[in-house]
Amino acid sequence: MGTYLLKTVSLSLLGISILLSQPFLVLGAVITDVRLWSAPDHARVVLDLTEPVQYESFSQDKPPEFHVVLTGTSLYTKKRALEINDPFVTKLTLSELEKGKVKLILHQKKPLTANVFTLKPYQEKSFRLVIDLVDAAQEKKEQEERQRQKETKSKGTKIVIIDPGHGGEDPGAIGPKKTMEKDIVLKVGEKVIHFLKQDKEIQAFLTRKGDYFIPLEERPKMAREFGADLFVSLHTDGSFNPQARGSSIYCLSLSGATDQAAKILADKENMSNILGGAVLRPAAFAKDPNLNQILLDLMQNNSMKESFRFAEMLLGDLKAIHIIKYPSYRQANFIVLKAPDIPSLLVEMSYITNKEDERLLNSNEFQEKIAKTIAASIRKHFRP
Ligand SMILES: [Zn+2]
Repeated sequence: MGTYLLKTVSLSLLGISILLSQPFLVLGAVITDVRLWSAPDHARVVLDLTEPVQYESFSQDKPPEFHVVLTGTSLYTKKRALEINDPFVTKLTLSELEKGKVKLILHQKKPLTANVFTLKPYQEKSFRLVIDLVDAAQEKKEQEERQRQKETKSKGTKIVIIDPGHGGEDPGAIGPKKTMEKDIVLKVGEKVIHFLKQDKEIQAFLTRKGDYFIPLEERPKMAREFGADLFVSLHTDGSFNPQARGSSIYCLSLSGATDQAAKILADKENMSNILGGAVLRPAAFAKDPNLNQILLDLMQNNSMKESFRFAEMLLGDLKAIHIIKYPSYRQANFIVLKAPDIPSLLVEMSYITNKEDERLLNSNEFQEKIAKTIAASIRKHFRP
């Protein structure tokens, strides 16, 4: 904790910006921003802080509220109340209890399970306090709905999962015009689903339907619950070199990356969990003792071969519409591609950090073209 003399501070609370121009003295941490991300089964509130904080929190059922008291923290205003448009949270209030003590109350529509954790500064992000308010019943309902799709799938029908990368706190790569990877991949993903749905023998689903974060391990897990026949993760590449252009395709590697560049890319994509704020659930990483390792290896081998076959074909189809960065697919250790029994691949749809590629990615025409190509390749993959 230290003493800070701030000359101008921009405080933006859920889109409302206030510029304080008078110099004033601040003790300890300052809350500089509050963000809310709405997911189908939870709401996430993120507080940006200038320093790490001590906090205490508790839930109450009547009325349903979640309280967090932060010590050694300052607010600019005595009290702040904001109405929120979210399925679970109706209002957020911030108030100063006494000097250096700030209380946050999240007013809920119903009792929810709360999970609070802090995140350290990373890249442009400062210290953050994250509050997830989870509707466990809704979470279960969605999981059951995925399993129902798997159980009621008719013979000959294929299930395809399209995974728009990043989301919420994790914007992904950012273009020179501030276009965010998370927004482009969602738009293209929705279009791929639209084109796939024209085929009656294909059922297609998105892992992420809005601007919120899903931990990387959760994405292949969702695909397995759906009983998916194919998993495609959508991304746009990013580079410090503004000249870098073109699309590329990646498959999982169990034995090291194709080369250093592929390894760096996988490391960067795997960082998504840190940026997006994944809650570490140790169970998700542990091996299931009931699964036969030999059988698992066989499945993985088989699904990887199928991934390679699809990757080659999709690369050929993408080549017809845009620049291709490498003549063949590449391999690295991507967390999101680790479903042992589902052919999975990751598409980097050109470079958002290149001016011309960014312009293309923003255009509806190019988004449709690339989505149509991916959908057509998927159909060909199932019915060569
Ligand atoms: Zn990405």
